Amino acid sequence: LSERLSGVFDRLTKQGALSEEDVKTALREVRVALLEADVSLPVARDFVKRVQDQATGQAVTRSVTPGQQVVKIVHDALVDTLTGSEDPGALKIDNPPAPILMVGLQGSGKTTTTAKLAKRLKDREGKRVLMASLDVNRPAAMEQLEILGRQIGVDTLPIVKGEDPVTIAKRAKTQAGLGGYDVYMLDTAGRLHIDQELIAQAAAVRDVANPRETLLVVDGLTGQDAVNVATEFDDKIGVSGVVLTRMDGDGRGGAALSMRAVTGKPIRFVGLGEKMDAIETFEPERIAGRILGMGDIVSLVEKAQQTIEAEQAEKMMRRFQKGQFNMNDLKMQLEQMQKMGGMEGVMGMMPGMGKMAKQMEGAGIDDKVIAHQIALVNSMTKKERANPKLLQASRKKRIAQGAGLEVSELNKLLKMQRQMGDMMKKMGKGGMLKQAMKGMF
Ligand code: GDP
Ligand code: MG
Repeated sequence: LSERLSGVFDRLTKQGALSEEDVKTALREVRVALLEADVSLPVARDFVKRVQDQATGQAVTRSVTPGQQVVKIVHDALVDTLTGSEDPGALKIDNPPAPILMVGLQGSGKTTTTAKLAKRLKDREGKRVLMASLDVNRPAAMEQLEILGRQIGVDTLPIVKGEDPVTIAKRAKTQAGLGGYDVYMLDTAGRLHIDQELIAQAAAVRDVANPRETLLVVDGLTGQDAVNVATEFDDKIGVSGVVLTRMDGDGRGGAALSMRAVTGKPIRFVGLGEKMDAIETFEPERIAGRILGMGDIVSLVEKAQQTIEAEQAEKMMRRFQKGQFNMNDLKMQLEQMQKMGGMEGVMGMMPGMGKMAKQMEGAGIDDKVIAHQIALVNSMTKKERANPKLLQASRKKRIAQGAGLEVSELNKLLKMQRQMGDMMKKMGKGGMLKQAMKGMF
């Protein structure tokens, strides 16, 4: 795939802004990449459409091709879509004993994931966890959980033959309360396909347990079906997150994107093997790279962008060293100040400058003053900003009027600009400027 894409990209070497044609050509291949990664068709289509609108007209970073730029935009959009608002690894387990309900199809990895998460809660958060198997269809499944429990040092609810899932859930709740557990996990039975009985059973268990978290476990190797499974479970049971298992295999993880896009539910964990430690919190960047399969292009573009930023900072520094500090520079500093809480905030970050700053014209200026100063710069012409020496009486009057302020305020601003320029120059000689700018950009 990468080869096919680079073929397309070689032909797209125009620079400047991304044209509609550039974007369309690159996105045709991106769409194929998404489908090959098992992203469902409607999701892939929507996604591509969204990126198309967003990418057209964007500037192309020097030294990368438009096609490469599109891939980076796609990648960022994937990460954006996959990123949930909350920390995926933080399970809601306050108010002990907190119930966690595990649901999913048979063989998706529910029992394994139940034990992995129990171990994680025990090891990382020092929680006391009780696990209970509700899989009454297969006696071996209950023993499987018991064996895993012994292996990881987590208690399991004693098995009582002939009980139904709801009774087991009630017993788990009681036992968890009496035994002083922080969390109890309910590992439900699965089916090969979704059927009404399975859903009804899970709903009944949900109603007695009232779970804080309902995690849907989905095999990361299943493609299209994942969306139906997720939609059905979410509609009927209500899930709080998805665990994607078997991501140690060669699945590309497109199911994650589809499920997220269709149900809006966050992916919380990723299973990476059969071992009890083989689970990690979901990282959007990693899955995005996997879905797209174009990691080198993404890092190439990132590097190109960083290089350009560094070059710009370097250029600016050389100007400052020569004492060239114009109104555009000052405006940038003022905007930084706005963000960082005044003059002393900014200067205080530069070694040796805290004291100097206090003696300067701008010392102690507050948000309102900064806003005025920015308004003054804004009312200057381009030429005036680049060369403040041009500012004679008539121009000053015009600028002050344009900003609705007094000429005296403009004079203060000009003094500040001169002082800062001098200071930059002095610092440049001692090599301090380089030091200081490192901290600022
Ligand atoms: P359940 O029917 O949903 O409870 O599924 P199980 O937990 O019994 O898992 C079915 C099989 O998948 C077992 O052999 C597990 O070891 C295996 N399995 C579960 N999670 C993973 C995973 O993340 N990676 C791999 N490679 N195997 C897994
Ligand atoms: Mg099981």
